[in-house]
Amino acid sequence: MTIPAFLRCDVLEDLGIEHGFGTRRSQATEVPGLVLVTQVHGNTVLRVPPLDPKAEADALWTDEPGLAIGIRTADCVPVLLADSGRRAVAVVHAGWRGSAAKVCERGVFELARAIQGEPAGIIAAIGPHIGPCCYEVDPPVRRAVAEDAVFSPSARGPGHFMLDLFALNRLQLLRAGLQPQNIQRVGGCSSCDSTLYASYRRDGSGERMVHFVRMSFP
Ligand SMILES: [Zn+2]
Repeated sequence: MTIPAFLRCDVLEDLGIEHGFGTRRSQATEVPGLVLVTQVHGNTVLRVPPLDPKAEADALWTDEPGLAIGIRTADCVPVLLADSGRRAVAVVHAGWRGSAAKVCERGVFELARAIQGEPAGIIAAIGPHIGPCCYEVDPPVRRAVAEDAVFSPSARGPGHFMLDLFALNRLQLLRAGLQPQNIQRVGGCSSCDSTLYASYRRDGSGERMVHFVRMSFP
C-alpha cells in the first residue's frame, strides 16, 4: 500500500478549500509558501499576515487569498477551521494543555469575528491524533481539563485515566456554536497506526506530521 502524504476532509474538499492532514510522509516543503510558527501548547490565536518569525502561537488564521497556514503534531489534535463562505481559514494545535485552555473555542471566536459571521457557518475538520485507546493521563491532567465526560477508566487502575481528545475538542466546538454536522473527523489514532502516523508517545522521537489549510482565491 502506498502511504498518502496527506489525508483530506470530504467537506472541505467539496468547498474547494485546499488542505491536508499530514501522515509520516508529509513534508512542509510540499506546501509552497506554508506559514508555520513556534507552538507552545497555549491558546494564542494569531492572524497572518503580518508574520513575525519569532511569533509563538497554537492557532493561526488568515483571510489572505492563496496563503497557506499550518501546524505540526505527533499525537496532539490538529484542527482545520473554514468559513463555509470561504472568507477565512484557521489551523489549531490542541494537545491536552491547549485543549484545557480552550484553544479551539478561541480559534472559532476569532474566525467568526474576522468574517463578522456566525460560528454556525464554520466547518471544523479534526485530524489524526492519539485516541482514548492509547492516551493515558494522570490526575493533574484530569483536573486541568475539568470535563469528566471525556475521561474513562484505565486498565492500570485508580489514578490513571484515558483521555478522549476528540470528544473534548468536539464538545468545545459545539459550545462555541458549531453545528454537529459541521464537525468532521479525519484519520485514526496516531499511536495505534505506526505505518501512517508519527506518535511522540509511541516513539519518543522528534518526528512530526504537518497539517495545513490554504485560503482560497475569491
Ligand atoms: Zn490508539
